[in-house]
Amino acid sequence: MSSLPARTRIAPSPTGEYHIGHMRTCLYNYALARQSGGQFIIRIEDTDQKRLVVGAQDRILKVIKNYGLSWDEGPDIGGPYAPYVQTQRLDIYQKYIKKLLDQGLAYYCFCSQERLDHIRDQQKKLKQIPKYDRHCLKLTPQEIKQKIDSGQPYVIRMKMPDNETIRFTDSIRGQISFNTRDLDDQVLIKSNGIPTYHFAAVVDDILMKVTHVLRGEEWISSTPKQILLYKYLDAPLPQFVHLTVILDPRGGKMSKRSGSVAAQAFLDEGYLPEAMLNFLMLLGWNPGTDQELFTLDEFVKEFSIDHLHKKSPVFDRKKLDYFNGLYIRQKSDKELFPYFQKFLPHASDEQIKILIPVLKERLVKFGDLPQTLNFLFNDVDYDSELLLKKGTRPEIAIDMLEKTKTLFTDNFSDLQARLMNLIQANNWNVGEYFMVLRVAICGSAFTPPIVDILPALGFDKTLHKLDIALDKLK
Ligand code: GLU
Repeated sequence: MSSLPARTRIAPSPTGEYHIGHMRTCLYNYALARQSGGQFIIRIEDTDQKRLVVGAQDRILKVIKNYGLSWDEGPDIGGPYAPYVQTQRLDIYQKYIKKLLDQGLAYYCFCSQERLDHIRDQQKKLKQIPKYDRHCLKLTPQEIKQKIDSGQPYVIRMKMPDNETIRFTDSIRGQISFNTRDLDDQVLIKSNGIPTYHFAAVVDDILMKVTHVLRGEEWISSTPKQILLYKYLDAPLPQFVHLTVILDPRGGKMSKRSGSVAAQAFLDEGYLPEAMLNFLMLLGWNPGTDQELFTLDEFVKEFSIDHLHKKSPVFDRKKLDYFNGLYIRQKSDKELFPYFQKFLPHASDEQIKILIPVLKERLVKFGDLPQTLNFLFNDVDYDSELLLKKGTRPEIAIDMLEKTKTLFTDNFSDLQARLMNLIQANNWNVGEYFMVLRVAICGSAFTPPIVDILPALGFDKTLHKLDIALDKLK
């Protein structure tokens, strides 16, 4: 339990779908703020106008809500430091860049892209770190004024100290240091007047009084530049916590090759948000005990930066499936009803009432329902050989199916007992019989408990399917 109220934030760029790794970052930020009685902020970083995707901002907010998380300040609800969208804060960045220009901590650069490309190529050839050569740092105030007045495009760069070691302590990784010799004079304001990520993020984190920056490890190399900006702006540093990257079971970063990576896609596949959150909680953090199941409230209480992992976790879908099954089984039939409705749009309410108790015990995710229950709504084609999978002779299978038809006359009550009587009376092999029936009804050898599922299929369709199977055998 951290003592001081933490102000944490996520700063998504609306450039596409919210990634499952971002959702984990979001969860950890949420937990730290909530457990310390602080605030959790969502700020939209839309300074990269070229990469903006229409509708992405709304979808990001929506998926975070769909996962069951909430925020205290953000673009939709405002807050004491509004606005929470960077392109609506351009005048604020202007004020701060002016401060840096006045103090000689930033400077105008009028170099053309051509020139920049040329020096970069030269440096590459000489095996030097590609860096701006500070050509424009030498310009006099008169030259700068004259260029601006004549309408020459420019960017504003940060002036790096020449040879200074920047040290910071990352809560997960410990001491990290960089020498400014290796850092470029970062562009802070682009030629369109919009700030770069580095500048806008630091100004906002300062103004929004963010105390902890929990973000992906890909931002570590940006941190020294940002630390200098805090220094330049005379502001206290937040605590930096760079989270591990989530690995794909096939190696490397999580990628689409092994399935979904967008947070919403998991919900669309029928994973429950509470199972997703529980799975994400343990993907880079442990409670220090064997406990694996946590509600969001329990996690908020238990979460601690000290127990975040250094080693990258592997996204284990089997474990996610296991969690999802557990969470499905924790729900009452009534709670499961809307999920079945959503994933089985052609099923009637009566059918769903029959299906829930039959499927609940074995269901992994709701998205499996349409495939598993396809036979309820469609004629499923299958090879007649499948009916004889257990070595049943065709004439026996025909006899089985014909006699079974006579049982389906008025009701499905005591069906199991009636079927067993039929099997015994005819001296059939039980395993063979049920395979024939299963395949005849479902078109597959792997199905939900067949006797329990028949009432959802109804008399007419059951008889229809038995007739199709008989046709196949005759
Ligand atoms: N806008 C950055 C992103 O898309 C945020 C990085 C940060 O948290 O500082 O991930």
